[in-house]
Amino acid sequence: MGDQLAVPAEKPQKTAKNVILLIGDGMGLTQISAGMFSNENYLNLEQFSHIGLHKPYASDNLITDSAAGATAFASGQKTYNGAIGVDPDSTSLITILEEAELAGLATGMVATSTIVHATPASFIAHVTKRSKYEEIAEQFLDTEIDYFVGGGKKFFSNRERDDRDLLAELKEKGYQVSDYDEQDFSSLTPDPTKNFAFLTSYEAPLTAEQGRDYLMDASQKGIDFLNKKAEKGFFLMIEGSQIDWGGHDNDAAYVISEMIEFDKVIGAAIKFAKEDGETLVIVTADHETGGLAINPGSKMGDLITEFTTEHHTGTLIPVFAYGPGSELFQGIYENTHIYHKMKSVLDLK
Ligand code: MG
Ligand code: ZN
Repeated sequence: MGDQLAVPAEKPQKTAKNVILLIGDGMGLTQISAGMFSNENYLNLEQFSHIGLHKPYASDNLITDSAAGATAFASGQKTYNGAIGVDPDSTSLITILEEAELAGLATGMVATSTIVHATPASFIAHVTKRSKYEEIAEQFLDTEIDYFVGGGKKFFSNRERDDRDLLAELKEKGYQVSDYDEQDFSSLTPDPTKNFAFLTSYEAPLTAEQGRDYLMDASQKGIDFLNKKAEKGFFLMIEGSQIDWGGHDNDAAYVISEMIEFDKVIGAAIKFAKEDGETLVIVTADHETGGLAINPGSKMGDLITEFTTEHHTGTLIPVFAYGPGSELFQGIYENTHIYHKMKSVLDLK
């Protein structure tokens, strides 16, 4: 029987200065396959040198949610579904983003959900329930995160809990702050002498099919910004949040359009890593969503798909790695080991 608690004592052949972690929420092997066969039989994922599989289950359920899944990546601890940066006893865990910050690295997050949604939240906040969006937003102020872009302005500046304007508070802290109401993200050039925050929508962002188009721009500008800012290196988490939502909707076209958009960003990250030579790029998912299958009768570019559920499933999840330390990501291991592997590649104490 596998020991889920064992922490791997692995050392990379070479450490990395930067880590870019790309999480495709709900992106199982079939979502990847469907994206590939709907994109002229190619995804940028094919450029990765090392591939493994992780076991995505939560501490209280074989089927994980995104909160427990992201907490495992962020803190190396299996926890219960709904937990954001806390263990099964609700004790706060330190996250890799916080540890990177303490070590003097620049940090950033980009998401196509709200920035307080479970996946990004688990890297920066510590709350017992994922639905505590306003508390999660407050906890962004407790950190020195250098760069974040995502939706959910209302949780910062039109709050039910209190009258705080967290965007004004971020400005007072010295952040360059803007949102969709003031300007289009594409018109902005983040100033690397400051920290940067941009809210892309009031609640959840649009889908890619509806015209949401900031993920590539926010990711590329984020990489450039953090790279300029960070003498010691950076940690950047980029989430393709809505692959999962397409799965919950049992909408294959939604899944595929989000998958192909996310893969373009993967292409930009790996291009940077190839030029830079000191960056580890990891692509994985928290879990699969929908039990998606590609059925008989499918043709290249014309798939017949079927879903088994409107929820998540328990299947193993692929991990793709490129750059220094990527050899650690081969094999089959617990989702929590991704945290330990990233930490050892960044040489964080
Ligand atoms: Mg998510
Ligand atoms: Zn989901």
